[in-house]
Amino acid sequence: MVKPTLHCPCEGRYLERAFQYDAPPAGETAFDLGGQVYNRVYDRCSLCGHWFASHTMNLDGLYGGAYVDNTYGNRLRETFERIIALPPDQSDNTGRVNRVTGFATRHFGHSNPLRLLDVGSGLGVFPYVMKQRGWYCTALDPDPRSAQHARDVVGIDAATGDFMALEANKVGRFDVITFNKVLEHVEDPLAMLKRSREFLAPGGFVYVELPDGEAAAQAGAHREEFFIEHHHVFSVASLSALVSRSQLSVALIESLQEASKKYTLISFIVS
Ligand SMILES: [Zn+2]
Repeated sequence: MVKPTLHCPCEGRYLERAFQYDAPPAGETAFDLGGQVYNRVYDRCSLCGHWFASHTMNLDGLYGGAYVDNTYGNRLRETFERIIALPPDQSDNTGRVNRVTGFATRHFGHSNPLRLLDVGSGLGVFPYVMKQRGWYCTALDPDPRSAQHARDVVGIDAATGDFMALEANKVGRFDVITFNKVLEHVEDPLAMLKRSREFLAPGGFVYVELPDGEAAAQAGAHREEFFIEHHHVFSVASLSALVSRSQLSVALIESLQEASKKYTLISFIVS
């Protein structure tokens, strides 16, 4: 049984079975299950509102080649260019860039270029635009094709690998670290957020985007926020708890619906 290692502060005493799936919801990435029966569930904590996914399917290698193949095919560049060309009112990335640059200006008291580490950079759309704003960007992604794409097409520094294995003395420290739709994909988001402290320059901040389970659940179990790739779906309370248990502090949490209609929680986090 896949058991996410983050337990809510309520210690799992108030979990209730919320959703059960015996087939992929429409729009979910079609993974090769190798003959395994599709079956998975979401349990929700009735106190803090955190959502825990669990299933018995073997999804080894989900984020290796298969994830990138299924998500982007061999068309990283094409997909990147299509997203970059979206009009601002249809682009989640435009909203993200405006939030991060706006908060950075308020937080640091200036709009000078800053050092950014984007963890789980994927297509690199976010660091590409931040680079255009003059920021010094480094991308990190477990898939070597994403890192190569970041270097060749996005034109920024990039490293391949798992954030938990990244050596702090190799990449230095950053004013801003971003986890855009990353922490819900890992079994242990608490360990990952804690680790960000080692890479944060004094006075820096972390920016996190996560699926908003409370808002998405109003629309139904079929919503993409509850797709198979997510081990965790958050509430404002469970995101707050995640931050404080990482020995960091919430500066801001907001619930919003993005241009793509995703229900998302965003947070600015300081040390
Ligand atoms: Zn709880």
